[in-house]
Amino acid sequence: MIKQAVIVAGGLGSRFGNRTKEMPKGFIEIDGVPMVERSVQKLIAVGIEEIIIGTGHCSEYYDELAKKYHIIKTVRNDNYANTSSMGTLAVCAPLIKGDFILLESDLIYDSVGLKVLQNDERANVILASGKSNSHDEVYLAANEDGVLNEVSKDKSIIPEPAGELVGITKISKSCLDKMMSYYNSDKALIKIDYENVLKHVSLNGEPVYVHKVEYYAWTEIDDENMLDRALTQIWPRIVENESLQAIRREVLLNPGPSTTTDSVKYAQVVADICPRELEFGNLMEDVAEGLTEVCADPKDYISVMFGCSGTGADEAMVSSCVPPDGKLLVVDNGSYGARLAKIASVYNIDMDVFKSSTYEPIDIKALEEQMKSKKYTTFAIVYHETTTGLLNDLATICPMAKKYGMTTICDIVSAYGGMPIDLGKLGIDFATSTSNKHIGGMAGVGFVVCKRDELLKQKDWPMRNYYLNLYDQYKYFLETKQTRFTPPVQTFYALKQAITETKVETVEKRFERFTACWEILVKALDEIGLKMLVDRKYQSHFITAILIPETPKYKFSELHDYAKSFGFTIYPGKLGNIDTFRIANMGDIKPEEMTHFTCVLRDYMHSIGVC
Ligand SMILES: *Cc1c(COP(=O)(O)O)cnc(C)c1O
Repeated sequence: MIKQAVIVAGGLGSRFGNRTKEMPKGFIEIDGVPMVERSVQKLIAVGIEEIIIGTGHCSEYYDELAKKYHIIKTVRNDNYANTSSMGTLAVCAPLIKGDFILLESDLIYDSVGLKVLQNDERANVILASGKSNSHDEVYLAANEDGVLNEVSKDKSIIPEPAGELVGITKISKSCLDKMMSYYNSDKALIKIDYENVLKHVSLNGEPVYVHKVEYYAWTEIDDENMLDRALTQIWPRIVENESLQAIRREVLLNPGPSTTTDSVKYAQVVADICPRELEFGNLMEDVAEGLTEVCADPKDYISVMFGCSGTGADEAMVSSCVPPDGKLLVVDNGSYGARLAKIASVYNIDMDVFKSSTYEPIDIKALEEQMKSKKYTTFAIVYHETTTGLLNDLATICPMAKKYGMTTICDIVSAYGGMPIDLGKLGIDFATSTSNKHIGGMAGVGFVVCKRDELLKQKDWPMRNYYLNLYDQYKYFLETKQTRFTPPVQTFYALKQAITETKVETVEKRFERFTACWEILVKALDEIGLKMLVDRKYQSHFITAILIPETPKYKFSELHDYAKSFGFTIYPGKLGNIDTFRIANMGDIKPEEMTHFTCVLRDYMHSIGVC
């Protein structure tokens, strides 16, 4: 999998005259977004994790962009005025760790071109198109095997081109090394373009293949005429092609699985692979590390993954983490706490349950009294009770459990990835979550983030379980980079993309987005006159349990169907005899969508006379 992209953006853009005197070409806007920023977004959407931009002229623009997208690293080519694109690539080279995609900064293009390169099994591939009639063509010639052997702007040199250079190329590390040694071999090459260096290495034992997409929608934008052509002819084609690939949007306001981005959905469409191949092992290893980083320091913690839902992860944790002669204390203040207790009882684990209100904070003193008895080896609690939206105060509770010598095992399923969490700081030893809630992937991977020292203690414990055994799964993966049993292969690809997108947004910003959505909802509830089950100061902002209106005209199924007709899916919730419906803020939901939903809710409530 290609993780890095390099954008060469040192150039002066002098053919634009005044427009690019004080701004790099890449910042010319198309439809309100700078060309280069759109390119960054497209790269992220196909799974690129790091973008290196080689800058020069007006480099501060790119440094600003790097603040907005912290996966961007900028490197300045101080000699940009006397070198060319290869000079800029050369300053980026020390940061390039493996195979990468090289792009020019002044391009607009259909993102399908990036997928074409990813899907091509050959190591070095230069993307080409049919006739562009741009009047600035760079022609490529290739031998009968498709290997690049000539590059020229002069059609008389290449009367029958294999295609026109687009400016998007997949390059292997070994090819880059050869490009660099050629470039450094002779001072006379100082102004050479990267495509001519590619030609040289291609003719000298490192084949670069020309992959032509005949009707590819793309253009370089070098001057006012090209910009005009881009806006009137090319951009509309790109918009149309990409809109044809958009998947119907359904906004899931149920508490998981959550709404996913199209890029996460598409990440599943990959070549078949046996999950025992090293390539897939590397992917799982990356995913495990990425999952850990979301909530803990990978030096001390490790994620153990299973093909299962979140409850599977809970079951793996509860059934694996209580020592053979241990005793468990479980807090039950909602359906998910009750579920942890139920799992323990199925495995005949010695246990006491600490019951607490489902909508009021836990009585810390009473809980501490129970802990003080020192009867327990293990303490289990849910971070965010998805039943009600009540967030338990783990920052107080877990360190207390540690003080009384307990191992802490927590279901953080519906908090993980939605708010900043530091397991080490909270004093949590084991924590569960799933691929399909805040992290934004597809359902199918349940995982336990484990403190390594604590996990290693389980080495010689008799197994209570088989498929879900935490230590066995950990050890087998450590030794083989494989899971013991078939993992959900495509779900892993989607999860990898979801983790990348989480890192790009950052968990802090994600929490702000959810909070913004929650505020919109709460304000609307106040206006409509609907009451919430939990006092707002104890709410997570991830789910809101709303008491149903008193009128007998209210029917959940009617509200559900009405909301569904606008693309919103909502969820009922019953707690004993308290009737609620629940609205979740999870996954790829946008504040404007929540605003739209509140209008739908208001309309329905108005229709039954509530407001
Ligand atoms: C969603 C959720 C789970 C897991 O539910 P599954 O349907 O098994 O994925 C567990 N705990 C909490 C708190 C949850 O919100």
